[in-house]
Amino acid sequence: MKILVINCGSTTLKYQLIDSETEKVYAKGLCERIGIADADIAYTSSTTGEKKEKKIDMPDHSVAFQAVIDVLLDPVDGAVKSLDEIDAVGHRVVHGGEFFDSSVIINDEVIAKIKECSDLAPLHNPANLLGIDACSKLMPGTPQCAVFDTAFHQTMPEEAYIYGIPFSYYEKYKIRRYGFHGTSHSFVSKRAIEILGKPVEDSKVIVCHLGGGASITAVKGGKSVDTSMGFTPLDGLIMGTRSGSVDPAILQYIADKEKMDVDQLLTLLNKKSGIQGLSGLSSDFRDIDAGIADGNPRAKLAFDAFCYSAVKLIGGYIAAMDGVDMIAFTAGIGENDAKVRASILKHFNYIGLHLDEETNAATHGKEAMISTADSTVKAYVIPTNEELAIARDTAALLA
Ligand code: ADP
Repeated sequence: MKILVINCGSTTLKYQLIDSETEKVYAKGLCERIGIADADIAYTSSTTGEKKEKKIDMPDHSVAFQAVIDVLLDPVDGAVKSLDEIDAVGHRVVHGGEFFDSSVIINDEVIAKIKECSDLAPLHNPANLLGIDACSKLMPGTPQCAVFDTAFHQTMPEEAYIYGIPFSYYEKYKIRRYGFHGTSHSFVSKRAIEILGKPVEDSKVIVCHLGGGASITAVKGGKSVDTSMGFTPLDGLIMGTRSGSVDPAILQYIADKEKMDVDQLLTLLNKKSGIQGLSGLSSDFRDIDAGIADGNPRAKLAFDAFCYSAVKLIGGYIAAMDGVDMIAFTAGIGENDAKVRASILKHFNYIGLHLDEETNAATHGKEAMISTADSTVKAYVIPTNEELAIARDTAALLA
């Protein structure tokens, strides 16, 4: 089946046209600055593979979606002759709250529930809904599915998702750990279990999705049993620009000292903290690695604090699952930064996981076992592919 995968942000629309059986990507591109001046669509020509860009006025997501359709149908660069060749559309939706524990075919009831979850993800769900709406208008009759970032984590037990605040806030406002990056954690853990070759119900895997945003998930018996992101994607690991978990009382202290309101505090924690805030250099690990090579002590501190925050979570999840069969690394840092992987994994010799240093150093963006052959616990790099996961889910729902 040819599936159009759509990922809408507040000012962006990313797309890929994927064959769910052969996994071939027929077309891909990105609309940026939707609703802002100077919008454009950048795409790869489906015939020549050449990268192209067009400036188009895009006042809203509908116009952006029309630009995507025009590129898909373009006689020179297009991937299809008619929209009828597209069997379905799969949308990434960030927050499904407690409503969705799996992907679903979109109907009016689903749209109403995604709207209800907008309070929980005010930057993301409204944008996802704009994408669904644009698609309904321009491709009426083509089935659409929603694939949620939160759905995979709905299997977490109560003790893992509840925060230690009055229970009434969970009852009234559904304040709890939801977890994110679920599509990636699901995709990578499935592949990890395949590699392990043991019955799913006996498997214990820890997935480290380390990118600009980063989260770690404990997957027991194929199900997420705990994850580091929480009520929002700010919780857990130190990230590119996000603080990760901090003592919540720090907020009042900073507010008093710096005369900040809540919005300013959240901007500080989301955009100016993490690796960027600690290093004062960059949020990108390529710059951090270069900074360390230049002898920059704050780059080294940011690197060490990031790895240490990962080590503590992994150690906790090993205890929570009574063991682990594999620790898997994915996303921009996890797939590419051998130094980060080495620095994290050196703490797990005690459970029988030993790093194959040569293979680790040579592994960038491809699947590889990076533990030694005699390790009792394995470590792998498993590249994630959220678009393919969305295409597969969409095809499975419509089969
Ligand atoms: P997202 O920002 O959507 O989470 P990615 O998963 O692609 O995206 O992660 C991007 C991050 O991955 C970059 O900010 C950078 O820190 C890191 N990264 C990408 N390539 C490399 C590399 N070759 N070496 C080290 N880190 C890398």
